[in-house]
Amino acid sequence: MPGDLDYKALGFKCGLEIHQQLDTDRKLFCMCKVQLRRDPAHATILRHMRPTLSEMGTYDGTALMEFKTKKNVTYQLYEDGICTYEMDDTPPFPINQKAVDIGLEIALMLGCSVVDEVHVSRKQYLDGSIPTGFQRTAIIGVEGSVPFKGRQLGIIQLSIEEDACREMSDKGHEIIFKTDRLSTPLVEVVTKAEIFSPAEVPEAAEQLGRFMRATGKVRRGMGATRQDVNVSITGGTRVEIKGVPKLQWMEALTRNEANRQKALLEIRDKLTKKGIAEATLQTAVKDLTHMFNKTKCEPIAAALARGGIVHGIRLGGFGGLLNTEVMPGLTLKHEFAGRVKVIACLDEPLNIIHTDELPAYGIEAKDRAEIIKEMACGNSDVAVLAWGPASDVETAMKEIRLRAIDALNGVPSETRQPFPDGTSGFERILPGPDRMYPDTDSPPTEVTQERIGRIRAMLVEAPWIREERYSKLGVPERVSRDLAISRMAKTFDELIAEGFPIRQTAVFLVEGMRSLKRKGKLADGIDGADVAAAFRFSKMSGMSVSVVQTIVAAMSPGERVENVAGRAGVQKVADVELSQAAKEASGTADVKFAALMARFGGRVSAERARNALSSK
Ligand SMILES: [Zn+2]
Repeated sequence: MPGDLDYKALGFKCGLEIHQQLDTDRKLFCMCKVQLRRDPAHATILRHMRPTLSEMGTYDGTALMEFKTKKNVTYQLYEDGICTYEMDDTPPFPINQKAVDIGLEIALMLGCSVVDEVHVSRKQYLDGSIPTGFQRTAIIGVEGSVPFKGRQLGIIQLSIEEDACREMSDKGHEIIFKTDRLSTPLVEVVTKAEIFSPAEVPEAAEQLGRFMRATGKVRRGMGATRQDVNVSITGGTRVEIKGVPKLQWMEALTRNEANRQKALLEIRDKLTKKGIAEATLQTAVKDLTHMFNKTKCEPIAAALARGGIVHGIRLGGFGGLLNTEVMPGLTLKHEFAGRVKVIACLDEPLNIIHTDELPAYGIEAKDRAEIIKEMACGNSDVAVLAWGPASDVETAMKEIRLRAIDALNGVPSETRQPFPDGTSGFERILPGPDRMYPDTDSPPTEVTQERIGRIRAMLVEAPWIREERYSKLGVPERVSRDLAISRMAKTFDELIAEGFPIRQTAVFLVEGMRSLKRKGKLADGIDGADVAAAFRFSKMSGMSVSVVQTIVAAMSPGERVENVAGRAGVQKVADVELSQAAKEASGTADVKFAALMARFGGRVSAERARNALSSK
């Protein structure tokens, strides 16, 4: 596998777009509550997407592509979770100011310049995941940075925007969306393309993820954070790998994408050398249905049995190229197949075949010879076949021609879907730059100096600053990294200001709490105040900090700590009892001390035990 230096030579460049849901009760442009639903939907609505002409009198490429897919879009609705705003029947309510505040806070933490006025824009979104056909979004800050491996990773901009629906299934011409997630406020942070090797990509994403978590204002759990990864190499094109769910996938995904772009550029050069350009590209489509009446190729036989057709398209000069590997286990053929799958909705695992891979799939050498003859393929040509319902096959033939034209230009501008094995597949054409336009329904919100001042005064310390501070205090390194982004960080700061032991307190707040949680002994909703109360109780009762674990394990959120301690058998040892025990102890000072500590467990602090022994 090539090393990172080779990727620098390739001109590898990567930027990230982090989408992070904000922890607000209400949605961004209406009063509906934010909540994910598992119960059955109360109703469904069926819609179709149609492209509209832009103000420039043209259609956006993505818009046209989505129209070509002719999808029936079904929305699953909840009467107590979705209102007429989300379904595009009424204009938006004023923007959620709590979300704007969180956006401002995160922008300030990233050192961004924040806007004087929040202007809502519409970002075209035509895959059906937003019923309006656009996403409302507002830039909050620009030009910030995060420290990353001894340098600064630039932030281009930070916006707040409404989340889209969750896709439940997408089969053929039917796509189903659940609307519960729709309009949840999220923040989008876009970095500069300043990550220069695949190995650094997950590290940068982790750094941003830690930062988001440290704000304490974001949602956690499945789907609350989603990353898009933008990759290009010298001579290539920016390709966006959408919604990478795991950091561990990123290195392989970006490595493979860089190599894919390199392979596509080499294919382009071969075609150029043959003198093939868009103007001279020779293609021809033919109906081959009659040749497959008795075929042993199962997917084709099945399609014909359902009344389908088989068409072939000759690609002049593409002979031999479709077998070129572009990603591990995937060839140029799969680039065509991906487009046919998404745009013509021919989504069987095998949806096209080409003459350079035959004989195969039940098609024999003599059948291949007949196809080549029928398609009038020369030595340097190849024919690509697709089968299925007539209108889908016609779409497929057009799309194969368009993808061939893209091959002449190198790397198509597209978004890709990530797969766990590190490969990716075509998702959609990358939208053009015109996809943003002002939202005439939303008035601008002024951002006053007073408001910025109020937010700045309460800014949370950035995790990298906090982590350094904790390390200097003597918090073990393995703990300081996690504590810096923990919701217990504030509790830690309070407790050590009250004189609790730094190391022990930090270790309990991270590792002790984690261990309780793993054992199922940490009640849901236990917060920093509950834990701090347990610490203070131990001190007031002359106990060791070690009893905190026992108390927290027995605690319900907000419960009086004295009650919990009683129930958990962690009562205060009375002075009389302790001094009696001190009198009874015998041996050297050390032996006596050990005996006292063993007798009372953590219920007597070392200091109290020593005092009892010295005052007898
Ligand atoms: Zn609503």
